[in-house]
Amino acid sequence: MSVTVCYDVASVPRRDPNDIAQWKSELEVIDTVTVQPRDAACFEVPAGYGFRIKSINGPQVGDLNLWNKNDLSERFFSGKTRQLHATHVTTGDRLWSNMPALRAMATITHDTLNWYGFDEDGGGVHDVIGTRCDPYTNYLLKQVDYHHCCHSNLTRAVAEHLSQSLKDAELLIHDVLNVFMCTGFTRDTHQYFMKASPVRPGDYIEFMAEIDLLGALSACPGGDCGSTHSDDKTPCYPLVVDILKPADSYLDEFQASPLNGYDGSHGV
Ligand SMILES: [Zn+2]
Repeated sequence: MSVTVCYDVASVPRRDPNDIAQWKSELEVIDTVTVQPRDAACFEVPAGYGFRIKSINGPQVGDLNLWNKNDLSERFFSGKTRQLHATHVTTGDRLWSNMPALRAMATITHDTLNWYGFDEDGGGVHDVIGTRCDPYTNYLLKQVDYHHCCHSNLTRAVAEHLSQSLKDAELLIHDVLNVFMCTGFTRDTHQYFMKASPVRPGDYIEFMAEIDLLGALSACPGGDCGSTHSDDKTPCYPLVVDILKPADSYLDEFQASPLNGYDGSHGV
């Protein structure tokens, strides 16, 4: 029986490749943030600027959260991003925000793992199907406290960056883009699986910020996520986030992503 792709994905607003090429032509690294293994760090990216998440030293996956820097209630919406693009995202795809803004927060402008596609197990890279590893699920399954899950790493980093309590910061943490992570669903039971990421030092994924962004990135305690998770056994490596500035002439013309056009009346 035939299936129907739910959304008319050809209608998803995309950024013109010529525009992206122009943006990329004069990028300059203006700041660099290093994310230590089993920890997280925050970074800010003005609209029209960009950021590049890089693998250094060894294979490592990262869990990414994004917010509108000027309104933290607007945040990355992994579920809608999955529906508008696919289970895994790559060059040209965009990261969408939650309702009522529902707009592009960032556009992926380069992905050195684009070649991977989908493997014989149905696995792909950079998924928007998993959530972040967290200490609550870990406790549920193992009855131990582990404090360096991505959820906790992101919570600590955001609390420090915003000078908030851990309790307040934790409420801002949301489902992630699993950067560099290789995942899929098992063919027989349709369960979420992970396998060793193909990422190697030098690989990177690059984004253009469509609005002013606050980002937080965790270097997952799963390392390359090829075996164990939520423990201190797996080799883990740092990740680097370069903040990128395009030419001033590009920024002069740049238009930030508009808020969603729905009138918000819900029929009332
Ligand atoms: Zn994790």
